[in-house]
This record gives sequence, structure tokens and C-alpha cells, in this order.
Amino acid sequence: MNKIEIMKHYFKTKYLRKFKTRKQLEHYQKIQIKRHMAFVFKHSAFYREFYQAKITHFDGNLEHLPIISKREMMENFNTLNTANINKDQAYHLALEAEKTRDFSPKLNGISMGLSSGTSGNRGIFLISDKESAKWVGTVLAKLLPGHLFEHHKIAFFLRANNNLYSSTENGRITFHYFDLLDEFIAHQKKLNDLQPTIIIGPPSFLRLLAEWQEQKIINVSPSKIVSVAEVLEDIDKYYIEKIYNQKLHQVYQSTEGFLAATCSHGTLHMNEDIVMIHKEYLDEEKGIFVPIISDFTRTTQPIIRYRLNDILIESKAPCPCGSPFLALQRIDGRCDDLFLGLKNTSTDRCTLFPDFIRRAIMFASDKIVEYKVIQVDMLKINIHLKVNGQLEEVKEEVRAEMVKLWKSYELIIPSFSFLPYDLKPSDRKLKRIESLLKENHHDQNV
Ligand SMILES: [Zn+2]
Repeated sequence: MNKIEIMKHYFKTKYLRKFKTRKQLEHYQKIQIKRHMAFVFKHSAFYREFYQAKITHFDGNLEHLPIISKREMMENFNTLNTANINKDQAYHLALEAEKTRDFSPKLNGISMGLSSGTSGNRGIFLISDKESAKWVGTVLAKLLPGHLFEHHKIAFFLRANNNLYSSTENGRITFHYFDLLDEFIAHQKKLNDLQPTIIIGPPSFLRLLAEWQEQKIINVSPSKIVSVAEVLEDIDKYYIEKIYNQKLHQVYQSTEGFLAATCSHGTLHMNEDIVMIHKEYLDEEKGIFVPIISDFTRTTQPIIRYRLNDILIESKAPCPCGSPFLALQRIDGRCDDLFLGLKNTSTDRCTLFPDFIRRAIMFASDKIVEYKVIQVDMLKINIHLKVNGQLEEVKEEVRAEMVKLWKSYELIIPSFSFLPYDLKPSDRKLKRIESLLKENHHDQNV
């Protein structure tokens, strides 16, 4: 990977792009968007056609342009990307790479990866070497404690689905890749030998590492731990923070882009120096929204006015760090994991956000060690519990909180079934709050 390019973006992100006020930031974004859109209109036939009427008088204001989602992005893949890459070819190569675990093959000099999702519903994402170096530089700038010239051993626990994350030697900083499919015992040995200074992984694995640390199976003392790739639940955050006696950091990264990272105060800020965010509110009063992103750094597969499938909750209070970047209270979950309830009085449905479920569980009892809540159908909820104490007692407390929640929205009370907690961290993403409702999964055939 191009080290100079990495360094350039590291320094730009860390030292040059400093914004004191929201106004300064917005001014910067507008200039970037104008420049970027000139490129996009020139090189992407899809966007040229899609925004046709607006091109001639484009003033840097994206807000009025139509929105796309994964469906449109995949349907128009061949004309949307600017590297002349054919979707079937790319898909074939990416699948092959996943099968063989060799992520090095490229097409026209471009790497590709598959987004997670059910088969047939997986997006393909393209990234050039230059974009990849830019990504590494930006991530390092936002994540590395101290500066680039200190020694760091970074342990990366990630689902491999492209060659972006392969082990890289970069002088003082070394990346050590842990394949989630490997045996636990191999991870334990590697961690003890390596003694990483930074650990990055999904919270389900970070929690497992904390359990190993508590059981004295491993003994590592990282100076920074970063949660990625799954929704970070408070129950896991508190446990990991307690065991390692430090703040747990977060990165909100998807195949669609590097979207947010925590500041020194542990607040998640959207990376508005790379991506412009528009909010589609689901509940404005509570600050719950779906982000529409426009990344002004990605050129191979431009991502403009793209609706993510995530639910975010904005922070009401400004962060003490003073950053003008949008602060989040949390990443709530995927839009697919909204719970639905039936109104008592009519055929109307009511949405229950994952945050409502999470709060009900956390409020019910402090004896809950782990949980998973699944909406199986409109009137059936399964709850898996692992508790520290009297299980029957906790079940009743959880049931009471759930009933209270459904009642407060005047909804028909579903049946709550309690099951043992038997989930193990694996290659599959762990969700503590999940909906299996058909209504939520219309995008299956993308
Ligand atoms: Zn902050």
C-alpha cells in the first residue's frame, strides 16, 4: 500500500482539517461537494442521468436531489461506477475470494468486497488502491492514540470480506489480522504472544476477550479498544470497560464508508470531513433518524444521497470536546430490526425502536448478564436471558417491563417466551435486538 498516500491523509485529517465552528465545516463541505460532483457528473453515467435536470445549475446543495438506496446502487452498478467494472464479474470474483480466503485478486486495479447480508441481498463495493490508502490514513488519524511515529501493534478482529484489511506492515505500526473463523484457542495464543497495543473488533468478540481476560486465559493490556461492525450495546460496553478499566471506543464503518469515530470523550462523531450527512427523521423529538450519506472522497463507486439501512440517535447535548461534527448518542440498530406492534383500537401499526427494547431490558434488572430479544411475529417475542441470580425472578421483571412498554403505546400485548441464552460469538453478526418480521425485510431480492 502507498505509504506516502497514507501519511498524506493521516496528516490532513489530524492536523489540517480542523473546524472550529459548524459554519466553517459547512463551507468546507460545500466546496468539496461541488468539486466532487463535477467529477461524478463527468464520469458516472448513472448519476449524470439521475440528476440530469440539476447538473447545469448545481450550487453545491445536495438536499433537493433524489435519494438512492442499496437497491438502486446495485441495479445500476455498471453505469454508476467510474472504473468500468461489470457487476457479474465483480460479484463472481468477490465470492471466490470469500471462499478461498484470498482477497488479493483485483479487477482493473480495483479491489472489491461484499457487504454482509442474506445471500442475494449482498451489495458489492469497489475501492481503488488510492482510496484504500486514503481510508487507512484517515482511520489512523482518528483512531491512533498519540502520533504516527509511536509503535503500535494493532489486533484486528474482522469478518474478512475484501482485501482492505489484510495484514500490513507499515514501519512502526503493524496490523495483525484475526480471522473470526479461526479457533478460539488460536486467538488466545496469538493475543498472548502479540501483546497488542490496540484491539479492534466486533463487541461480541471484545466481550469474549474480556471474559478470557477475567478468567486469566489471556493477559493483555491494550491502551485502546475499539468496537466495530456490530451495534454496541450498553451491557457489553460496561462489561468490557470494567474488565479493561478504560473507555471503550467505537468506529462506525460499513462498506459504504468510514462514517463515525469516537473522540477522546468517547462520543461518537460523524466523519463530516469526509461525508455529508442528511437526516431522515423517524422521530424528530427523540432525535432518531436514518442517515442519507454523500461521501465526497470516493470516486470509484461514488456514494451520493445514499440512504443507509441504519437507525441513529443524535446527541442532544454538545460534546465537551468542542468538535462541530454531529455527535451521536448511539447507533440504535438496522432499519430491519424495528419492532412493530398492533394498535388495540384499529389496524394501525406502531414502531418500537430498538432503543425502547434495550431500555426496557436494562431497566428490568441489573442481574442480566446477556440477552437477546427477537420479534418472531407481530404477537410473539422470544427473549433469551443469561442472568446472575434467580432466573424466574428476572423473567418476571423483564416480562413486566415489556408489558409496560407495549401498554404505553396502547398496543396488543404479544406473548413473551423465555429461552436459555446460548449464543456464541461467530462469523455471523451478533444482534441483541432482532426482528424477523417479513414487513421489515422487503429488500430481500436486491
Ligand atoms: Zn466529542
